[in-house]
Parts: sequence; C-alpha cells; structure tokens
Amino acid sequence: MNKKIAVCPGSFDPITYGHLDIVRRGLCVFDKVIIAVGHNPLKKDLFSTEEKLEMITESVEANPRIEVDSFEGLLVDYLQTVGACAILRGLRVISDFEMELQLALMNRRLCDKIETFFLMTDYNHLFVSSTIVKATAAAGGSVEGLVPEPALKKLLEKFPVMKKK
Ligand code: ADP
Repeated sequence: MNKKIAVCPGSFDPITYGHLDIVRRGLCVFDKVIIAVGHNPLKKDLFSTEEKLEMITESVEANPRIEVDSFEGLLVDYLQTVGACAILRGLRVISDFEMELQLALMNRRLCDKIETFFLMTDYNHLFVSSTIVKATAAAGGSVEGLVPEPALKKLLEKFPVMKKK
C-alpha cells in the first residue's frame, strides 16, 4: 500500500509547540509528515534556513515518521517531488482563515491533485505564533513552554536579554 505523506510547510521562524502540535495531530492521519521550511517573502526572518532546520531536527528527535527539509519555489511542485498528497496547515483564530483559504485555493488551482488539510490547534497554543514569541523574547520576556528547548537556546543567543523562566 502506498504511504500517505503530508507536508507541513511554513516559515518556522522559530518552530513553536503550536507547529509541533499540528505535526503530531497530522501523524494520526498520515503515515509520514515532512516539515518543510519555505521562505515567505512577506515576512522578514530572524533565523536562517540552516538554523531553522537545526532547531526543528533537534526538536522532533529521531521520529522515523517525521522528516525535516527545506524547499524553494512552488509548494505544489515540492509535494510532487517528494510524493506527498496533502498540505497540512494549522488554524488558530478566524483571522488565519482568510489567508489560509486564499493559499489553499491558489494551490488547488496550481495542482488539483493535492488537498490542503486544516487542523485546529490545541487551545493552549491558540495565542502562540513565531511573531509573538520573537517580540516577547526581544523585549526580555520568557517564552519557556511555548517553544521547544532547541528554539529556546537559539532565541537566547539572539536575545541575551531574554529571561529563561
Ligand atoms: P507561514 O509563514 O507559512 O504562515 P508559519 O511558520 O507562521 O508559516 O506557520 C506555519 C503553519 O503553522 C500555518 O498553517 C500556521 O497557521 C500554523 N501555526 C502557526 N502557529 C500555530 C499554532 N500556535 N497552532 C497551530 N498552528 C499554528
């Protein structure tokens, strides 16, 4: 039987427990989830792709059902290259919906064979975004419990003022 592979794309600048929650839930449905770091031209990144890949790889440890990769160009082309059939995205609040609907419909227009799956995040992660994590850390606040340990370490390198707890 063909393995069902989903790609969870994003900026992951940095990865948060919200992202990991979506990947974990995705694994209940798909045989494998590839966390794929892409570049969103609308966002100014704090971390390089190499740093992001390092943080994510360390955060998921050796789970044989999770792969970590990066891609350039069209997401649907990347999915076809790796043999994936689905895009996995997380939804937090209503304001996520508008952009996600646009993205999903554009991806469908580009490739009708690929479906986008939306998963609701755990309520504990409803308010968590990479943006709020960076803003809090930059101002010296603690983001412990919101991002995995490897991301916490890298944030501390960028923002030495950040409180650890
Ligand atoms: P992008 O720049 O593509 O939006 P992000 O890294 O910000 O990349 O997000 C990737 C995906 O993870 C998106 O579907 C986003 O909605 C989802 N996501 C981000 N934070 C959370 C969270 N706290 N809970 C659930 N999903 C989340």
